[in-house]
Amino acid sequence: MTTPPTPGLSTRCIHAGDHLDERGGIHTPLYNHSTFAFTSTQGVLDVVEGRANGNLYTRYGLNPTIRSVEEKLASIEGGEAAWVFSSGMAAEAATLLSCCKTGDHVVCIGDVYGGTYELLGTNLPDLGITTTFLLGSQLDRLPEALRPNTRLVFFETPTNPNMEVLDIAAIAAIARRHGVLTVVDNTFATPVNQDPLALGADLVVHSTTKYLGGHSDLTGGAVIGSARLLQPIWMWRKNLGQMMAPEVAFLLARSLRTLVIRVRAHNDAAATLARRLAEHPRVASVNYPGLTTHPGHAVARAQMKGFGGMLSFVVRGDAAATAAVVDRLRLFAIAPSLGGVESLVTQPVTTTHHGLTPEERARRGIVDGMVRLSVGLEDVEDLWADLEQALAS
Ligand SMILES: *Cc1c(COP(=O)(O)O)cnc(C)c1O
Repeated sequence: MTTPPTPGLSTRCIHAGDHLDERGGIHTPLYNHSTFAFTSTQGVLDVVEGRANGNLYTRYGLNPTIRSVEEKLASIEGGEAAWVFSSGMAAEAATLLSCCKTGDHVVCIGDVYGGTYELLGTNLPDLGITTTFLLGSQLDRLPEALRPNTRLVFFETPTNPNMEVLDIAAIAAIARRHGVLTVVDNTFATPVNQDPLALGADLVVHSTTKYLGGHSDLTGGAVIGSARLLQPIWMWRKNLGQMMAPEVAFLLARSLRTLVIRVRAHNDAAATLARRLAEHPRVASVNYPGLTTHPGHAVARAQMKGFGGMLSFVVRGDAAATAAVVDRLRLFAIAPSLGGVESLVTQPVTTTHHGLTPEERARRGIVDGMVRLSVGLEDVEDLWADLEQALAS
């Protein structure tokens, strides 16, 4: 007997994890029930004691709709298992709490999401878990930053909002040599563009609120990896009560079925806008990993299959002139978040990085004239026309 070939990514996005019922519905139904009934005491015991894979209680994740989207996510990211959460931050918090205990240490490389920065820099130190933050340009200092009590290395790539590219395979190899786990936030790239687990990462976390949900209508998170590493995270999720609602899991599964075509369209539109912005006289620079001028382009070409729908650029002008450009945009909505069908714009100094001191912003290369775009799925010529009119002074 030969093993059948692994289906392609689009096929897995559509079919992986389907739990069909006897009524013939074409995909897993929504079981929004909080609890499930048994026909005997023995049946309850079999599930509670782990002999049977039955449904029991939704907060535990023992719900067919939850299990279905988890199997789909595991298949898409190339992991053995996945857990879903009520938000991306819930997934990160449970993962960090599960992997680290008091006295342990984390190394965080490059810019990370604001909530992640607070969790690592403020909340976890209260529990005696400390973090060393390295800039993406300080990778040479990684080996000396890894201490005997270091449990994991955490990073995103591409990063927000500089779109810096970090070499996943290189970092994971150094971490592994020191017996340290590598955890990658793959929210920006998505599994369509980047496979951190195949490149050597141990765990992948996601804000499914972004591209995986894709329609700005759900909030959720996930962690994907080996069954061995995921097993202890399960109890943290259960007892911190961080479960994704079944209605959200159903909506997420609906969105994942179109993930590949959506992300490829985001990639194409962002690449077009990045090229045109780079030639615009009012634009000083463009950060997009797909541009050959991007400092991380070679690494991006090696580890990414597409360069994503996120880009940032620097307007020639001060903070007020940049805000005026942002305010003139009509199709790009001024909003945090990213990854939805609607194009969004932010000026990092006024939103995502408002809380940082001017010195810290300067150290991280976040300048007043920086504008971040989440390129949506509107017609790219309409998006370009909007940018052109906003940039015309
Ligand atoms: C949004 C985001 C998060 C946090 O996700 P929530 O779903 O808002 O909790 C984490 N990492 C990245 C890269 C994000 O963009």
